[in-house]
Amino acid sequence: QAGEPTLADLSRALVAAWGTDYGVHSPTWISRFTDMTRQAASYRKGRVLLAGDAAHVHYPVGGQGLQLGVQDAVNLGWKLAQVASAASPESLLDTYHAEQHPVAARVLRGTMAQTALTRSDARIDALRETMAELLSMDEPRKRYAARMSGLDIRYDLGDGHPLLGRRMPDLDLVTADGPVRVFTLLHDARPVLLNLSEPGGYDITPWADRVRLVDAKYAGPWELPVLGTVTAPAAVLIRPDGHVAWTGTGDPASPGLREALTTWFGPPAAQPDLPVTAA
Ligand SMILES: Cc1cc2nc3c(=O)[nH]c(=O)nc-3n(C[C@H](O)[C@H](O)[C@H](O)COP(=O)(O)OP(=O)(O)OC[C@H]3O[C@@H](n4cnc5c(N)ncnc54)[C@H](O)[C@@H]3O)c2cc1C
Repeated sequence: QAGEPTLADLSRALVAAWGTDYGVHSPTWISRFTDMTRQAASYRKGRVLLAGDAAHVHYPVGGQGLQLGVQDAVNLGWKLAQVASAASPESLLDTYHAEQHPVAARVLRGTMAQTALTRSDARIDALRETMAELLSMDEPRKRYAARMSGLDIRYDLGDGHPLLGRRMPDLDLVTADGPVRVFTLLHDARPVLLNLSEPGGYDITPWADRVRLVDAKYAGPWELPVLGTVTAPAAVLIRPDGHVAWTGTGDPASPGLREALTTWFGPPAAQPDLPVTAA
């Protein structure tokens, strides 16, 4: 339907559905939403970037729209800052579409499926009962909860440790300055290289103006949504959006670290050649 909805429209709809409008009056705001499902083909064109409902809309079932939009902003914000400050090339902005477009496409598929389940005929009723049976089982329930909460999001940053591209868990760490939680380290919206092996094992001087290096210990399990416990990495490079850009194996040469630092946080600052190696 086109045009702004009015109180008379609402009253008529209530009477049609319930036989009464319950005396509804004095609304401060009336708006209309539908099960329209749309996604922008591209999230970036030059200097124009789309985020939130401007990039994707869907039926509100499952309450995922706002979190999806916030995730867009959190994925994009630090990249914009790095490009604006000339720390990174403009191409970094293209990773925003590459990472977040598939995330929203999956949400849209999910809400379309859920919308279908809200209809009623014998076949849909049977499908809904089948889904309900599935969701009474632990594994499907865990997967769906992780999917709808967005906690299972994995950006495709290549093969490697299961943490790669996933959201860093909020671990309780111990540092020389006392206990601290991982997410507290991210409050500055700056990248963090978390060294969980021997203190002083990494030298990232060429990125020291952008990346914070934290030596810490963590003794507990590494639990990820859906996957469960994964092996503990020796070090983790965490992006400002909380996703893991690189994991260390304890190999003193730290393979891939220099590349990950350059890809996400820009080329090393000009200074004498300082290899990124374990001490
Ligand atoms: C009934 C309903 C229930 C929902 N429930 C949930 C939920 O439980 N959980 C959840 O995560 N999400 C939910 N959502 C989705 C969520 O509300 C949206 O995804 C979210 O508000 C989108 O935020 P946004 O900032 O991208 O866009 P908007 O909130 O639409 O903000 C855009 C703003 O831009 C303004 N604007 C538009 N054009 C112009 C212009 N030309 N100049 C200046 N300003 C302009 C608009 O007035 C508006 O204030 C629900 C949505 C609906 C309809």
